[in-house]
Amino acid sequence: MLGDDTDRDEARQRAVVRQAIGRSDLPIELLASGRWELAASIADRFGAGRVFLAGDAAHQLPPNRGGFGANTGIEDAHNLAWKLAAVLAGRSAPRLLETYDAERRPIAWLRHEQIFARADYKAYLDTGESPAEVIDDDAIELGQLYRSAAVHGAGPDLPPARRPDQWAGQPGTRAPHVEARTADRELSLLDLFQRGWVLLSEDPRWAAATTCAAGELGVDATFVHIGGDVTTRDPRAFRSAYGIEASGATLIRPDGYVAWRTLDAPDDPIATLTGALRGVAAA
Ligand SMILES: Cc1cc2nc3c(=O)[nH]c(=O)nc-3n(C[C@H](O)[C@H](O)[C@H](O)COP(=O)(O)OP(=O)(O)OC[C@H]3O[C@@H](n4cnc5c(N)ncnc54)[C@H](O)[C@@H]3O)c2cc1C
Repeated sequence: MLGDDTDRDEARQRAVVRQAIGRSDLPIELLASGRWELAASIADRFGAGRVFLAGDAAHQLPPNRGGFGANTGIEDAHNLAWKLAAVLAGRSAPRLLETYDAERRPIAWLRHEQIFARADYKAYLDTGESPAEVIDDDAIELGQLYRSAAVHGAGPDLPPARRPDQWAGQPGTRAPHVEARTADRELSLLDLFQRGWVLLSEDPRWAAATTCAAGELGVDATFVHIGGDVTTRDPRAFRSAYGIEASGATLIRPDGYVAWRTLDAPDDPIATLTGALRGVAAA
C-alpha cells in the first residue's frame, strides 16, 4: 500500500513491489491495482424501517492485519439473514430486526477502536485519548459478545470479546465447538446449527419442552439430546464448554449464537423455555 497518492505506470509498480520484497530475481505478475480513500467511519444507524446497511456501506475500516474489513461485513449479513427470513415468514415480529443494529454496530465500533489500538494505525489517532488495550485477534474474529433483545442473560460484567477458549457458553457468544458423534458419523456440535433454533441438554426431559414451546410459538426448534442423539468424545466436554449442569439446557440461535441457557432444570421447563424462546425469537 502506498500512501503518497501518486499514479504509477506498470514499470514503476513493478519497481515498488521489488523494493518491498527486497529481491529483483523473482517473476512478478500484476493482477490488479486500485485507488481508494482510507477511511474509518461507522454509520449512525445500520437500519431504518425496511432498509439495512451491511458491509462497507455500514462501516469503513482501514485495512489492517487482522482482516476486520470484509469479515465484519460478512458477519453483518450472517447476523441479518436469519432475522429477515424469520420476519418475512411471519415467525418473528419485525422488532427482531432491531437487534441487527443493537448487535452489529457495537462490533463495528469495537473493531474501529481496536484498529487504532494497533501499531499500524496508532499514529493516526488524534482524539487526545490513549489507545484502547489491544484485544487478541482471535477474540475479535471469533469471540465477540452480542447484547440485544435476541439474547437473554449476557451479563453486564462480561467483556465485549474474549478468545473462544476463554468463554464457556455465555448467552451472546458463539456456541462452542465440541467433538461429538452420532450413531453413524463424527461431527462437531457446530454442525447441528445454522438452520433453525436448537436446544441442547443432557436431560431428555427437555425434548417435550422443546416440542411444546416450538408448537405454541410456531418457531422451528429442535431438541438434541447430548449423550443420546449425539455423544461427545469426552463426557465432561459438553458441560464445561457450554457451562451448564446435567439437567440444564442451552438454546442456540439459527446463526449459531447462544440465545439463552439455564444452568439447571427449572420447576416448569415448558413454561420457562416457552418464555425464553418467545423473547429471543420475538415470536
Ligand atoms: C487494500 C485493501 C485491502 C483489504 N484487505 C482486507 C483483508 O485482508 N481482509 C478483510 O477482511 N478486508 C480487507 N479489506 C476490506 C474489504 O475489501 C472490504 O471491507 C469489503 O470489500 C467490503 O465489502 P462490501 O461488499 O461491503 O463492499 P464492496 O466490496 O465495496 O462492494 C460494493 C459493490 O457495490 C458496487 N456498487 C456501488 N454502487 C453501486 C450502484 N449504485 N449500483 C450497483 N452496484 C454498485 C461496487 O462496484 C462494488 O462492487 C481491504 C480493503 C482494501 C481497500
